[in-house]
Amino acid sequence: MDTAINGTVATGFGNPYEFVVTPVADWSMYQMALFPVLFIIPTEILALICDLILWACGVGLPLLPRGKYPPLEFKDWSYVWFNRLCVLPFISFLIVKAVWSARCVVWDMDAMTFSNTVIAFVVVFSLSDLTYYIGHRIVHKVGPLYNFVHKHHHKESHPRRGWVDTCNAHPTDFFYTGFCTSPCSCLWLLPTGTVHIVAVAVAMHAVMFVGALGHSRIDLNVGVFNSRFHAGHHSMTFCNYAQNIELWDRLFGTYKDLPMKGAKKMPLADAFKGKYADKVE
Ligand SMILES: [Zn+2]
Ligand SMILES: [Zn+2]
Repeated sequence: MDTAINGTVATGFGNPYEFVVTPVADWSMYQMALFPVLFIIPTEILALICDLILWACGVGLPLLPRGKYPPLEFKDWSYVWFNRLCVLPFISFLIVKAVWSARCVVWDMDAMTFSNTVIAFVVVFSLSDLTYYIGHRIVHKVGPLYNFVHKHHHKESHPRRGWVDTCNAHPTDFFYTGFCTSPCSCLWLLPTGTVHIVAVAVAMHAVMFVGALGHSRIDLNVGVFNSRFHAGHHSMTFCNYAQNIELWDRLFGTYKDLPMKGAKKMPLADAFKGKYADKVE
């Protein structure tokens, strides 16, 4: 770690790498203030990329079945923006704190290997999904907990707005979802020096990207990920409790495939005439 810090070159604007590797407890007020901005901007850029992919729905990508779409009200937008601007940076702050003290994390950029990046990413991404699977299943099982924490997010049986619908949850729901699906929920389980910081960073952002795609109407299948998985949870409720991949639901017998009756592919000509927008509202 010392080598990593000493090896960095200071710039007039401060060294961003040094910013990350400085213990959270030693951050200056400037670093504290800068931190939320540093995490909000990349997240919003990712959300924009998701929106562009969602826009591509209108140019011929296969779509999932569509249903009723309750309009977003003041309470929905308040949750969406509070989660985006406050809860997300707070979770990110906790992740940095956890990562800083995790013995499994390797910081040296020259020490990247296939095993501590690619394999570590797969392990971290899958294990954090297991953490969420457990928490999410409990929330669905305990009535008062469901009503207070999670019911709002299930207002949409056919989410389609991507990142907006992902963030449309009670802040306690958004917090535990973000915390469980983030790398910090499982890093403490892994042996010393086995996960490179790059794998942690990729896992953090992949969760957000995959979450947004899971709240869209695109029928996208990439390896173990398919967007119909979380759409199935919203539509049928008592299945598909993990957030990102099907592994744990298949293993524990809670997996269900979303019935595709009524699924359509928007013809190119209709998309350019804006008919997609007319039909989904
Ligand atoms: Zn749920
Ligand atoms: Zn959802």
